Amino acid sequence: MPELPLVVWITLAAVLGLLVGSFLNVVILRLPERMAAGWRREARDVLELEADAEPLPPGIVREPSHCPQCKHPLSAADNIPLFGWLLLRGRCRYCKTKISIQYPLVELLGGVLSAAVVWKFGPTWVALAGLVFTWVLIAAAGIDFRTQLLPDQLTLPLLWLGLLLSLLPMFVSAPAAIVGAAIGYLSLWSVYWGFKLLTGKEGMGYGDFKLLAALGAWMGPVALLPTILLSSLIGALVGGSLIALRRHQREIPMPFGPFIAAAGWVWFIAGPELLRGYMHFTGLR
Ligand SMILES: [Zn+2]
Repeated sequence: MPELPLVVWITLAAVLGLLVGSFLNVVILRLPERMAAGWRREARDVLELEADAEPLPPGIVREPSHCPQCKHPLSAADNIPLFGWLLLRGRCRYCKTKISIQYPLVELLGGVLSAAVVWKFGPTWVALAGLVFTWVLIAAAGIDFRTQLLPDQLTLPLLWLGLLLSLLPMFVSAPAAIVGAAIGYLSLWSVYWGFKLLTGKEGMGYGDFKLLAALGAWMGPVALLPTILLSSLIGALVGGSLIALRRHQREIPMPFGPFIAAAGWVWFIAGPELLRGYMHFTGLR
């Protein structure tokens, strides 16, 4: 790597993160549509119904972006991450419809979290892996938040990548990654079945197990308990404030995936520091 001050690398990571964030927006919107269309196709096939001529929704990479309301193609300037939205003051240039806050939010998240990864790991291959980890988590959390689905297309590659990197090893050893993946999956799986047998309700989905398995593959089994505790804490804070603000009804299930993703990412970046802080705070050490 060329000798550049760290602050330059962090800035580059932020810019890259903004650009990737705008791609993640497209993934968040289009991947569930394509999944649903694929399921409808399979269902017709299984039910031996005549295949319908429903065209597949737009591809994730090929189709140029357009305003979802008036379908006007977006110019290059409208497409500048974050700043495009700010310049347009959150409205479509052509039809003046409000643009969802999701777009700038995901881009901002992409920029800030990517900068944090490079700040933590420096300009290294470890940081590059950390960026991929971060981007997949943003996409998975965004899709779960919108649709209550955690696509296998995101959780499983993340799991495999975590296992493969452990062969180097990069973050944890291979045994730790394998045990982490297995315990990650099984722990939520048992909570799910326990909860279902006791209450007859489903508290979460299989996507959550796969996501925690992926986090276990990246961080090892030791990170799982703090990740779950942290995700419950974040979930309680966010859920509590949404209910307090009456933006969310108590009975509607909240997706758990975004909180697992958020907690996993925080632990990935600052686990040891948080642990030290906690020990210090509680007087354990
Ligand atoms: Zn428009």
